[in-house]
Amino acid sequence: MNTDLEKLIALSKADEATARLNAEIAELPKRVAAIETKLARTKAQLEAAKKAIADDAAEKRKQESAISDQQGKISKYRDQQLAVKTNDQYKALTHEVQFAEEAIRKCEDRILELMLDSEEREKALKAAELELKAETVEIEKEKTEARERTAIDEAELKEWQAKREVLRAGVGDSFLAHYDRVVKGRRHALAGARDQICLACNVMLRPQTYNELRSGEKLITCDSCGRILYYDAPADEPVRETSPAAQASAR
Ligand SMILES: [Zn+2]
Repeated sequence: MNTDLEKLIALSKADEATARLNAEIAELPKRVAAIETKLARTKAQLEAAKKAIADDAAEKRKQESAISDQQGKISKYRDQQLAVKTNDQYKALTHEVQFAEEAIRKCEDRILELMLDSEEREKALKAAELELKAETVEIEKEKTEARERTAIDEAELKEWQAKREVLRAGVGDSFLAHYDRVVKGRRHALAGARDQICLACNVMLRPQTYNELRSGEKLITCDSCGRILYYDAPADEPVRETSPAAQASAR
């Protein structure tokens, strides 16, 4: 096989591995960020649950203080009733007492409501606490995994980059320039050809071009898409010495 083509196939593999690893390394922090967003939401829920409980407790104290004020008034009215001279004055004070008792009943109803709600509030708090705990464990695990995976990927990336440099140094300048140009525009610079067709753009090759490609002696590019072609032998064809695809698939 043409040695430049052989090197370009290897270079293409190195480029693909490098791109894959770079993409994976970029993806890992996003996963951690997604859980961090979830964690922040749960923290906000927990804070809201705590605040609701504190607000209810404050309101309960306010209602209790109102009850004690009304009780103070009632005992004052009862004292005044002992000293009144007329029936009307007595009745007026009785009315005041009833009014205060009604206010106390309202406060007591509200306190009861708050106490009934408190069960739900505590449940919500407990749930948010448990969720936060689970998510904290999860995020630590994800962070550790992401750190480990990134370290492995980066080590592998370094190896591929070194291989890439060696391969690039070994390919002729004009081939390399062509390769880089096609990679820039089409991501992959190589394409298989089978049954006289470029497998990347599906355009038919000239018979002479195809025969030259099959002989594997020189580097052939597709007239239509510009990709560097290698002969992709059909599976049922006996493996030929000169077929880079057969060698590539045997790797
Ligand atoms: Zn093509």
